[in-house]
Amino acid sequence: MHANPSSRDERPRAEDAPITAGDLAGRLEGLIPIGLSERGTNRLAWTPEDRRAQMWFMEQAAGVGLRAERDPAGNLWALPPGDGPWWVVASHLDTVRDGGRLDGALGVAAGFAIARASSSPIAVVSFADEEGARFNTPTFGSRWLTGRLDVADVLQRTDEHGVELRQAFEAAGLTAEGLGQASAGLDRVLGVIELHIDQSLDVDASGQPAGIVTALASRLRMSADIIGRADHSGTTRRGERADALAAGARLIVAALDLAPDDPDFMVTASRIIVEPNAATTIPARVRLWLDARSPEREQLVDWQQALEALAQDVARRGGVELRLDVASQGPGVAFDLGVNAALREASERLGHPAPAVVCFAGHDAGIVAPHRPAGMVLVRNATGVSHSPAEHVELEDAAYAANVVLTAVERLISVAP
Ligand SMILES: [Zn+2]
Repeated sequence: MHANPSSRDERPRAEDAPITAGDLAGRLEGLIPIGLSERGTNRLAWTPEDRRAQMWFMEQAAGVGLRAERDPAGNLWALPPGDGPWWVVASHLDTVRDGGRLDGALGVAAGFAIARASSSPIAVVSFADEEGARFNTPTFGSRWLTGRLDVADVLQRTDEHGVELRQAFEAAGLTAEGLGQASAGLDRVLGVIELHIDQSLDVDASGQPAGIVTALASRLRMSADIIGRADHSGTTRRGERADALAAGARLIVAALDLAPDDPDFMVTASRIIVEPNAATTIPARVRLWLDARSPEREQLVDWQQALEALAQDVARRGGVELRLDVASQGPGVAFDLGVNAALREASERLGHPAPAVVCFAGHDAGIVAPHRPAGMVLVRNATGVSHSPAEHVELEDAAYAANVVLTAVERLISVAP
C-alpha cells in the first residue's frame, strides 16, 4: 500500500492479453443503461430493472456458450456443460440507490470475458441482492447459498414503502417455499474469485492497475438508545435537563476519540434518529448507530469495551438512560492463500505486481470464503469513491485485472487434484 510515483501513470499493455478493454466495453454496453439516470444507477434487487439485468445475464451466457439458470434465491448461474464442480467468477448486478455503473456489474461482465477466453470450463455467477439496499439484506444470495440466511427474518422485512420482501420476492417470480429449502449449489463450486472496483484509494496509491485482497476487515456495528426527557428549550434550566441529543453527541465524539491511532481502524456515526426532533423541544430520545471496522478484531473488542465504560459516564453526566448494544458484527475473512498466490503470480507474470490490500466492505466472495477457496481482485479506482456515480475505473485496468483472474484460474484448475 505504498505509493510509487514513478509507476503511477503506468497503464497495462493490452497487446498480447486475451481480454481487452473493448471486450469489456462491448459486454457492458447492454447493461450500463439499465436503471441509469443522471443521479446514478438504480438497479435494486427484486425490481423491474433487476429483471432486465437478468435478461442481459441470460444473453451473455448464451453468447459464450454457457447455460443460464436462476436458483431459488435469485442467484444467476451461467454453467458449462456437465455437472461440475467448476471454478466460479462472480459478482453482482444489483446496485445501491444512485450507485455507480461498474460496482458489481464490472465483475459479472469480466466473468463472461474470462469464461470466453478460458481453455478450461469456468462458471459465472451473479449473486442476488448483494447490496441489500432495499430491505437491508446485504449478501442475500451468497448467504442463502452457504446456509447463512435467516429466511424467516428476511421474508418479513419491509422497504421504505411498506412492501414486504416476501411480496417483492414473489413478484420477481421466486417463492418463499423455494427459499426455505437448503441449497445444494455449493456442490458445484470448486472455488470463487470476485473482481470488483476498489472502494478506496489503496490500489491507486500503489501505482498498479489492480490489487489482491488478502482479507476483509472485521466489522462491529453498535446501536445506542438514549432516553432523556422532553421539555421546553427556553424555560428549562440547563441543570434540570435530560437532553438525549446532547448525550448522543458526547457519545459520538467519544467513539471517534477512542479509536486507536491506526489509519486502518474505521469508525463512523452513520445514522441517528432524534425524537421529537422539534426546534424548541429538548430531545427526549435518540437512537444512533456506530459502525467500526478493522483488520484486527482485537482492536474492535478493545474499542467496544472502552466505549461501554465511557457511555456510563455520558449517561450519568447527562441524566439520561443510555443503552449500548451490538447491532451486528462480522468476524472478518482471510482469503485463501493458494488463490492469493495464484493471483499474485499471475499479476507478476503479466507485468504489474499487484499489491496486497485489505478490503473494508463486505462481499459475496467473503461469504463463500469459509466454505470454498476464495479470492478477490480490486481494480484501481482513481476517485476511491463507490456507491456513487463518482466511482472511476479505466477499462484498460479492468481488462488487466480480468487477465490476472483468467491466468490464475487456469493455473488453479491445472493443479487441482
Ligand atoms: Zn459491489
